[in-house]
Amino acid sequence: MRVILLGCGTSTGVPIIGCNCSTCTSNNPRNKRTRTSVFIQTHKKNIIVDTSTDLRFQALTYGITRIDGVLYTHSHADHTHGIDDLRTYNFINKMMIPCYGDPKTVATIKMNFRYIFDGSYAAGGKPQLEITPITDEMDFHGIKITPIEINHADWMIYGYRIGKMAYLTDCSGIPERSMRRLEGLDLLIIDALRYTPHSAHFSVNQAVDYARRIKPGISVLTHMGHELEYDELSRKLPEGIMPAYDGMEFELDEA
Ligand SMILES: [Zn+2]
Ligand SMILES: [Zn+2]
Ligand SMILES: [Zn+2]
Repeated sequence: MRVILLGCGTSTGVPIIGCNCSTCTSNNPRNKRTRTSVFIQTHKKNIIVDTSTDLRFQALTYGITRIDGVLYTHSHADHTHGIDDLRTYNFINKMMIPCYGDPKTVATIKMNFRYIFDGSYAAGGKPQLEITPITDEMDFHGIKITPIEINHADWMIYGYRIGKMAYLTDCSGIPERSMRRLEGLDLLIIDALRYTPHSAHFSVNQAVDYARRIKPGISVLTHMGHELEYDELSRKLPEGIMPAYDGMEFELDEA
């Protein structure tokens, strides 16, 4: 199973337009973060989690020429606004793309992108998608996909577990019932927006605390803002926990 972090930046991306801080003006490519998304290849099927605002750029950068399914974590703009770029995959893969999310996310995506789903936009030029709400584990071409309920401010949204990898972006809390679904991980990808607390995202310390409780082989911090400079954060983190960078890649055993 192959996992590529397509983007690991917060909603603004890093650098932020107009910002002259040391992270935003850094020459280190690891401080250049597109909007958060992850690509997973397993059982010869390609799955992406979210369609970030930067989907087209990410697909070109990492050579993603096929998408068999999309898992949505929630409906915030940074996680959904690349949705129209799925249209290209309809052409090259010659198939409708199945998309999944929790019922509220699916309803909001259908409302926000009405032209895709309501059948009234007749002139073509829209992605061919089939979006289905899921409320529990599902089998996708022999791949077990487990939604993990997490808090995102006052929302309950989905993270996902596939095999021994779990992806928890936009996370400000993990209910106990979800913690039980995170045992035995090789790789945990977890939200860490900045050093100081935030109502909708874990801080670095909170993410580290949860990583220590979950005890995966490796923990990777994502959805990072410009407060987090890559080298400085790398030095501060304990062993086994590291900041993500765009294009970071892992090979894991298929569970
Ligand atoms: Zn986000
Ligand atoms: Zn900045
Ligand atoms: Zn969000």
